[in-house]
Amino acid sequence: MATSPNASNSSIPQSTLTVLAELEKSFLLDDDKLRAIVEQFLKDFKLGLGTYGESMAMIPTFVTGTPNGTEKGTFLALDLGGTNLRVCQVQLHGDHTYDIQQQKYRVSDALKTGEATALFDYIAECVDTFLTGLKDFRIAGEYLHLGMTFSFPVEQTAIDKGKLLTWTKGFSAKNAIDNDVVQLLQDAFNRKHIHVRVTALVNDTVGTLLSRAYLTGGCILGAIFGTGTNGAYVEDVKTIAKLAGSNNPAVPKEGKMIVNCEWGAFDNSRNVLPVTPFDNKVDRESINPRYQCFEKFISGMYLGEITRNLLLYLVDSLLLFNGHSTKQLNTHYGFDTALMSEIELDTTVPVPNATVQPQSLGATPTVNGTQPRSFTRTRGVLTRQLGFKPEFVTDIDCEIVQWACRVVATRAAKCSGCAVAAIIKQTGADKDTGVIPVGVDGSMAEHYPLFEVRLREALIVLVGEEVEKRVEIGLAKDGSGVGAALCALQAAKQEVLPVP
Ligand code: BGC
Ligand code: MG
Repeated sequence: MATSPNASNSSIPQSTLTVLAELEKSFLLDDDKLRAIVEQFLKDFKLGLGTYGESMAMIPTFVTGTPNGTEKGTFLALDLGGTNLRVCQVQLHGDHTYDIQQQKYRVSDALKTGEATALFDYIAECVDTFLTGLKDFRIAGEYLHLGMTFSFPVEQTAIDKGKLLTWTKGFSAKNAIDNDVVQLLQDAFNRKHIHVRVTALVNDTVGTLLSRAYLTGGCILGAIFGTGTNGAYVEDVKTIAKLAGSNNPAVPKEGKMIVNCEWGAFDNSRNVLPVTPFDNKVDRESINPRYQCFEKFISGMYLGEITRNLLLYLVDSLLLFNGHSTKQLNTHYGFDTALMSEIELDTTVPVPNATVQPQSLGATPTVNGTQPRSFTRTRGVLTRQLGFKPEFVTDIDCEIVQWACRVVATRAAKCSGCAVAAIIKQTGADKDTGVIPVGVDGSMAEHYPLFEVRLREALIVLVGEEVEKRVEIGLAKDGSGVGAALCALQAAKQEVLPVP
């Protein structure tokens, strides 16, 4: 699908169109490129399952089963890792349904980048505040069980133990890397004499997978497309070569185990991803240069920044805004990915039947050129959010900005499709005939127009239409909370602790 504004229905001058077409080529993922990315994925899966190395960590999670919806119990859950900290109480009813009470807390940049103890003290305080506000928590025994969703790469050695490998997504708190994050949080509770016991540690992708399985009875992949990106899937223990010969009693000899891929780190060595100068700038100025290469192509934290770099290049080339910028557009991370969503809504139409929205995650495309052009939202963003004077924003400017958002977001969604296709191939789901259930969460999956449509375009190329049709993508809205609760439940069963 060509995304360039096409000459016959665009008022953009031909000379500008030529420049845009050339730029667009550098963002293009043609069919061969898509296939090459998936092939690299499969090779790197194998490497990662063999040993902790440079690329994807492929972390065994010690979660050996997926729920079927009959699980019951009330648990505390905590979710740290995206934009907010969330504390929840989850009641699993045992019939695929649950109740959740939750509270969001802001995590300031100072906490993200300060001392780890300050960060964990803050988390413990938030839990305390939450508990104080709860009227009806049913306490069984001396301590409350808490499942912790911690959405960073953690090398686990048990369901409630794991050391932080590295920070991502703008976090860099000191003295946390190489430490057991469960212990860091438990220490904070103990310092404050809060009677909570952290019994399970889970990545958000694992939580998403578990909660999707609880809701529908099965799931092979849990994926996050939000501030960051990652996926977890169900693997044969025997294929996880790095577990072989382990003397860790928590390692089963056979059966299944959920593996957290940490696919945000895919292709850090930049073998296959078509990196542009705009990506390089994002990477160089990030908190973790040369890390999370794939994440920087896909996730909400970075897409706005790539687009901002692209827009500024066009400004400097005197092709956009008559060569002018604004203070906001000149600011690092000054163009939020949410604004791209808003801008793209000008050229897409929402799914008419609102009730299917949570399942279908997005919008249907307009036929290029036949839909009346709208610049309303784009103009609103440019003037209200980015500080451009209305009289200086032309329709052509709006059209170019729409093009830039489309090009960057299309590449992101197609890359996301590569990751999903790679898991389908890794698990052999393409060889079966049944439904391929995939649980997703995150702001891109939930809110970005056409995200799923574009992702599926890549899937069709990569696994064929027959398989693509069997892929059922469903939103696991409270995935992190419900998943952490399910994990705490499993931990309680394993340890024969009383289930509240
Ligand atoms: C983290 C993953 C997480 C993903 C989505 C990445 O930056 O490394 O652990 O699952 O973001 O939140
Ligand atoms: Mg999250």
